Amino acid sequence: MKKIYLLATLFAVTVCTTQAQSRRDKEQTYTLDKPYETVLVQPVKGKKVKNVILMIGDGMSLMHQYSAWTANGGKLNIENCPIVGLSKTYCANKLITDSGAAGTAMATGQKTNYHSVGVDTNGNPLPSLTDIAKDKGLSTGVVVTCRLNDATPAAFCANSPDRDDAEKIAADYLDCNVDFIFGGGSKHFTQRKDKRNLIEEFKVKGYNTPQSWDELKDIKQTPIFAVVDTLDLPVPSMRGEVLGDASMKAIELLSKNKKGFFLMVEGSQLDDYGHFNDLDLLMQEVHDFDRTVGRILQWAEKDGETLVIVTADHETGGLTLVGGDKNTNTIVGKFSTGGHSGVMVPVYSYGPGSQDFGGIYENTSIFDKIKKLLKL
Ligand SMILES: [Zn+2]
Repeated sequence: MKKIYLLATLFAVTVCTTQAQSRRDKEQTYTLDKPYETVLVQPVKGKKVKNVILMIGDGMSLMHQYSAWTANGGKLNIENCPIVGLSKTYCANKLITDSGAAGTAMATGQKTNYHSVGVDTNGNPLPSLTDIAKDKGLSTGVVVTCRLNDATPAAFCANSPDRDDAEKIAADYLDCNVDFIFGGGSKHFTQRKDKRNLIEEFKVKGYNTPQSWDELKDIKQTPIFAVVDTLDLPVPSMRGEVLGDASMKAIELLSKNKKGFFLMVEGSQLDDYGHFNDLDLLMQEVHDFDRTVGRILQWAEKDGETLVIVTADHETGGLTLVGGDKNTNTIVGKFSTGGHSGVMVPVYSYGPGSQDFGGIYENTSIFDKIKKLLKL
């Protein structure tokens, strides 16, 4: 059975890589059939930072956003963020980082080795923002559309020098004490070499363990461990608005804590379609992420004490926009690589404390600034 799974995975990866190579350096045209309305939020005047929502578009750089902006008829929710900075993404031992090292930089404030999650360059575990916030009495959450053992959520909830050590990373979730966890990857929690059923273990720890959005939506109490798919969640057209829905559900429950909360939301699969050089699916992911940004900003405007940061860990695909027309919602783009590229990524911010996020800085500074503003 395992052999069949491995062969199927290998086949899928080979097909995607071959497809990506055949698309590379060729113009692709994409038209958004149904542009969406964006929200308009006013800047917040208050000074107190009670909550922080860190939104990470995996592999999303300026070109992805400008492409998405053009395809959506010249508007994005992200434009409501009044402050923009630039983050330098290189890791400890490579110029071009991966999501493991980049996620670790933002989660723990330390540059680490390529392929590591939640550990320093010697492999020692590092406390993450979710650990530190929880220790100070804040509520915490992680919402992603990939399998939970994938690099970005793992950088916040697990510790391993090898991001591919799925069994160990999944087991680490049991000790991460995050109040609201949402993502995919049930396979790594239930079909394990060590025969443990981690979902049952979460239940014993007192967690609610819904296995679909329908099961999750009416739950009124944390802690919640919601793993809603075997591996990654499906493409946006099939999964609907669940990234936004799960994020708003997390906010609804975490905001009950008077001391505040820290929430990480990831648009996880932008990166995959950057790797596959698939402009259509990439744009669907950027737009899904941006719609989630819109919903979160509207909530933050009302709340007045929430800092929202929208950034990325690195760029994927070396996307270049070579043509298009915002009046016809059309873009023409080309990819230059099936991997990540080396470029600073934008950091957009909204709400109290956002003024600290202008300028050019290391990706580790995102951790430092959040820690300072939340007084952790
Ligand atoms: Zn990647």
